[in-house]
Amino acid sequence: MNDAEPRDFIRQIIHDDLESGKHAEIVTRFPPEPNGYLHIGHVMSICLNFGVAEETDGRTYLRYDDTNPGKEDEEYVEAIERDVRWLGFDWGDRLTHASDYFERLYEDAETLIRKGLAYVDSLSADEIRAYRGSLTEAGRNSPHRDRSVEENLGLFRRMRAGAFGDGEHVLRAKIDMASPNMNLRDPTLYRIRHVPHQHTGDTWCIYPMYDFAHTLSDAYEAITHSLCTLEFEDHRPLYDWLLEQLEPPHRPRQIEFSRLNLAYTITSKRKLAALIENHEVSGWDDPRMPTIAGMRRRGYPAAALRDFVKRGGVTKKDKLIEMGVLENSVREVLGERAERRMAVLRPLKVVLTNYPGDKTETLEAMNHPNRPELGVREVPFTRELYIEHDDFMEDAPRKFFRLKPGGEVRLRSAYIIRCDEVIKDGQQNVVELRCSYDPETRSGTGTSDRKVKGTIHWVSAVHGVHAPVRLYDRLFTLPDPNAVEDFRAALNPDSLEVVDAVLEPSLTALSPGEAVQFERLGYFCPDERDSSPQKPVFNRIVTLRDSWAKIEKQAMQERG
Ligand code: ATP
Ligand code: MG
Repeated sequence: MNDAEPRDFIRQIIHDDLESGKHAEIVTRFPPEPNGYLHIGHVMSICLNFGVAEETDGRTYLRYDDTNPGKEDEEYVEAIERDVRWLGFDWGDRLTHASDYFERLYEDAETLIRKGLAYVDSLSADEIRAYRGSLTEAGRNSPHRDRSVEENLGLFRRMRAGAFGDGEHVLRAKIDMASPNMNLRDPTLYRIRHVPHQHTGDTWCIYPMYDFAHTLSDAYEAITHSLCTLEFEDHRPLYDWLLEQLEPPHRPRQIEFSRLNLAYTITSKRKLAALIENHEVSGWDDPRMPTIAGMRRRGYPAAALRDFVKRGGVTKKDKLIEMGVLENSVREVLGERAERRMAVLRPLKVVLTNYPGDKTETLEAMNHPNRPELGVREVPFTRELYIEHDDFMEDAPRKFFRLKPGGEVRLRSAYIIRCDEVIKDGQQNVVELRCSYDPETRSGTGTSDRKVKGTIHWVSAVHGVHAPVRLYDRLFTLPDPNAVEDFRAALNPDSLEVVDAVLEPSLTALSPGEAVQFERLGYFCPDERDSSPQKPVFNRIVTLRDSWAKIEKQAMQERG
């Protein structure tokens, strides 16, 4: 462990356990259930579990918590591995499944029976629920609670052998039906389910319950710190009871932390799956989804996700983190990394009346303003261009420093132009601008040192490539969509807008997912599914902090 102060309470505990010699090596696990894709909440758990092990030269297991046959799927298994690896973590040869331990778990269940600590119950599910009591009312013992060890063993073995139908019997721990903690009122350990399992096939028709399987899998793997979210706090007494009764050589310590919740989105696999089923989004990797696959396709770098969860920290307090925090992490990573390009999202035609119609100049543009080592690229300049519709205003306020009738603006890496004439269609929409350029003002090499307040981006109308660009907004209109009865009613109908943009030609050379900054507009990348060099399709990753507005504001203040 490095010398810096541990940065959260879990790292403090781990630090102390290493100092005191309680553990020589830290072993953690990330235990997803393969019933959906991983989301931003899982990113936190992954970074925590793999992070603390990495920082202490320990080890982490990637363990599938696959105790629910039927609901789980190989597609999810593959996605989970891809996503954890993409985030930058490596489980080495420690890829396991709760189902790897089914035999051992069964043995331990028999041990509990032999110790008189578990029994086969033959009440129906409804009866079990009724007997359990409530928070204010003690439960009642099942009439089957006092079956002999022999009878229990016999029944349990026949359960395993397939002698009974689903729900006919369960195996329960014999703890305390009056416990104030409902989890200790003789919790179910095994249930009968005649459903093939994606990993063990039809070897089993009884399956262990989560608490039983999870606790003991932790113990089998000699996990030192079993880190989980706060909803498992009430399960810890059962976790500890199982370890106490079965006395495995390793007794992991469970520590709970609060879930990461992101504003304007949801982090529940069940609810995310419902969005897909109802075709509200295109799939688990829809770029609006808070899944790792969706965020990757959107163009979020793995480093930004890691940075984001680090900023959020690890606590026991409930938190709803602003989307802006995540977006800032994305901007910070991309600002440094992404090359600059020009694209026009809502094109307005500009004709330079004093520029020859048959001429193409090749201008040079910096790939990154602060990183000259990234070099320059060539951008074609012609008589007909596109600029952003928003960069022209007919009745502009005095402090509008972009283009207006009679006004001047610099075209980025090119010339200063003046707007001489505004062409409109029958509905009075501006459809074209007639402008003139000043040949002395070419960026870098021009002989004039004339300056103008505004600089705008542009693309040659002759060489520009027309392409759809997908602009994403938040998926929900409410900060906490879980707070309303039907979370789907809070969906943002405008979460996706597709515009017909014009791209500078060099943009067709990007590989899928490669992020660039469209000058003044934000960060974008070719969609990894739908884009090709012949038919590019771009995703907006994130908008820029409105730095240009700020620059203009500053300029305004300077001029008083
Ligand atoms: P979901 O509600 O999406 O199904 P889950 O907890 O059931 O979530 P698992 O696959 O069981 O999903 O989660 C694997 C691990 O990730 C667990 O240890 C769980 O505590 C943790 N985890 C899940 N959601 C979050 C979250 N929002 N913040 C932090 N950790 C999380
Ligand atoms: Mg879970």
